[in-house]
Amino acid sequence: MLISCDVAIIGAGTAGLAAYEAATEAGADAIVLEAGPGGTTCAASGCMPSKLLIAAAEATESVRRLETFGLALEGRLRIDGPAVLARMRRERDRFVAGVMRSTSGIPNDKRLRGHARFLRETRLAVTGNEVTARAVVIATGSRAAVPKPFRALGDLLLTNESVFELPDLPRSLAVVGAGPLGLELAQAFGRLGTKVAVFDQGDAIAGLRDPVAARSAREIIGRELPLHLGTEVEARRVEGGAELSWSGASEGGEVFERVLVAAGRPPNLDGLALRNSGLALDERGTPLFDPETMRCGESAVFIAGDAGHDRPVLHEASDEGAIAGRNAALWPKAESRPRRVPFAVVYTDPEIAMVGPPLPSLAERKPVIGAVDFADSGRARIMGRSAGILRVYADPEDGRLLGGAIVGPEAEHLGHLLAFVVQRGLTADEALALPYYHPTLEESLRGALRKLCGQLRTLPEARAGSMEFGPGS
Ligand SMILES: Cc1cc2nc3c(=O)[nH]c(=O)nc-3n(C[C@H](O)[C@H](O)[C@H](O)COP(=O)(O)OP(=O)(O)OC[C@H]3O[C@@H](n4cnc5c(N)ncnc54)[C@H](O)[C@@H]3O)c2cc1C
Repeated sequence: MLISCDVAIIGAGTAGLAAYEAATEAGADAIVLEAGPGGTTCAASGCMPSKLLIAAAEATESVRRLETFGLALEGRLRIDGPAVLARMRRERDRFVAGVMRSTSGIPNDKRLRGHARFLRETRLAVTGNEVTARAVVIATGSRAAVPKPFRALGDLLLTNESVFELPDLPRSLAVVGAGPLGLELAQAFGRLGTKVAVFDQGDAIAGLRDPVAARSAREIIGRELPLHLGTEVEARRVEGGAELSWSGASEGGEVFERVLVAAGRPPNLDGLALRNSGLALDERGTPLFDPETMRCGESAVFIAGDAGHDRPVLHEASDEGAIAGRNAALWPKAESRPRRVPFAVVYTDPEIAMVGPPLPSLAERKPVIGAVDFADSGRARIMGRSAGILRVYADPEDGRLLGGAIVGPEAEHLGHLLAFVVQRGLTADEALALPYYHPTLEESLRGALRKLCGQLRTLPEARAGSMEFGPGS
């Protein structure tokens, strides 16, 4: 059957659904093509189940930390693995059902089940049907990369697709990848009683590009979890599990019941037959696109969400879907929409927040950095959580805030405050003039801003005396 429409959207995840809504709102006749069961990665095997597991882990940790406050439980904490996982899945399934309910408004003839691939720029094949559109949105998401040494592990291997389906907590777990996803799940399983070790080829942690914040995160999290950074790992199936042997910055060997691979998420583009689309691709095979219009070159194809391999977090997938959907509907016109300040949170303990462009990419502007240690925060000490660091960057030319990195208690909330003032284009002085209650964690932000303002004021003198303002302040 040949189906004609204005906009064909490939993928009914967060980005694809946002694209559908925006395209129809702009008056287009849009169709969504979906290969899987729907429900979105975020709800089914991403943000939500991982945060549910972390919430259970936090509950165990708060019991363990009772001693800090002079409290004790009679008897011992019993962790019922199947019950923990069942609660996670029950709540996860509610989120998925919520997504399904919200998408049930899409008429049946505006959704097509099947794997889509390009025949031409605006012509697609979907399981026996062909769809021709004025414009196409690629919103196919991403999937876990499984590096070669782990492919032969069979059912011992877990990814985000399978880890949330485990019937019980494994006795031991090797986590491959010290990025946000690997670290969050490693800590959660560790706190729930699984013996965990983390492996990574590089020495970065949680995606932190600020070296001082990264060191702080490595030290604090490394006290709880063995972090084998800078290692190459070999894996093979043996009696009782998977034997991992590693070499590099550290060496060793150990048998783990399961191996969770969280070693990056390449975009789902390989099944799309992109060569037929005529799109220009980068060296990784991702279409080149304008991040303010989501348009791929001069074509009638738009891209959104993890498929674009640019900002792989949920709120960006949603924004990109909305931009792509609207512009696909308006094609050949394309409206530019300025993007929000980059912002990401990692739900480890301590939490991690990253705001603005990564520090290395700001190097040319020689940012001034104000930093405070959470050891000096009254509120953090009250809470018994006084570990971590907060660093804020400002432009030395005009004092405008550029971003920052936070490793510390409730960094998700402090990160939002920082993201708000950065996006508003406030200077360090202006942000310092805002109200801060006492005693709060927000006072740490004020402390970092005070230091920034102090440095910015002395900057002309410092420059005259050719003093150096490095990132270690
Ligand atoms: C474990 C984990 C934890 C995460 N935690 C967070 C978090 O705390 N906060 C946060 O902001 N982000 C988090 N993320 C990232 C977030 O989930 C993603 O950025 C977001 O879900 C991407 O949405 P998307 O629409 O691009 O992709 P998806 O939701 O994956 O949608 C893509 C859809 O395209 C379909 N598809 C693919 N190829 C085809 C094809 N050829 N034809 C038809 N359909 C196709 C797929 O079946 C899928 O339904 C997490 C991710 C993971 C894995």
